[in-house]
Amino acid sequence: MTVVVLLGAPGAGKGTQADLLAERLGIPHVSTGDLFRAAVRDASPIGLEARRYMERGQLVPDDITIQMLLDRLTEPDAAGGVILDGFPRNRAQAEALASALAEGGSKVDRAINIDVPTDELVRRLSGRWVCGESGHVYNESTNPPKVPGRCDLDGSPLVQREDDKPETIRARLDQQLASLRDVIGYYDETGLLRSVDGVQPIDQVTTALLTAVAEGAASGAHEAR
Ligand code: AMP
Repeated sequence: MTVVVLLGAPGAGKGTQADLLAERLGIPHVSTGDLFRAAVRDASPIGLEARRYMERGQLVPDDITIQMLLDRLTEPDAAGGVILDGFPRNRAQAEALASALAEGGSKVDRAINIDVPTDELVRRLSGRWVCGESGHVYNESTNPPKVPGRCDLDGSPLVQREDDKPETIRARLDQQLASLRDVIGYYDETGLLRSVDGVQPIDQVTTALLTAVAEGAASGAHEAR
């Protein structure tokens, strides 16, 4: 089982890179943001509750988030591991993940921070568009769709997420950079952290991430001996 935690501020490219890594490593990309957005679309009890926080650019409470994520990890496609995107967002979530994995005899293999300066994040976030159908991510300047306003993969119209509107961006960044620093600190202390430069072309970021994952797998194998 390979568990990779992708860290980075909103707009650092976690979603895009998690899709690419999932394909290369053959394990699913699990995004708590996507799970919440699906729950909101389905108007499930979790969705109705989560929506109140998401609209304000705030984190959903830990009890709801942790339960939802741990439920997702019990699904059959996650048996070989997962690429986590958007989770954990604080120490409590990181600790809950570590103990749940430990119960099953596994652990986080590697936590990787995709490092992007704040000014660049704001620029990227205000240009982000996603497809309404399945959440594929585009950016006006760094990763535009081939046909403006249409998803390359499924042709569906591109929309701007409610929480990517400029007034919400600053609130999200302020709050999430603080909790990101917390989580980075946690994985640094546990020796699992690596950092990659997120201001490189997309394929170079992917290569750097794959190298970091391979090092994590190698050191895990070494510890097991
Ligand atoms: P994201 O797509 O990761 O930016 O998440 C969108 C929104 O979903 C966030 O602004 C939060 O409101 C909520 N969310 C996603 N992941 C978490 C998490 N791990 N903890 C709390 N709230 C989350």
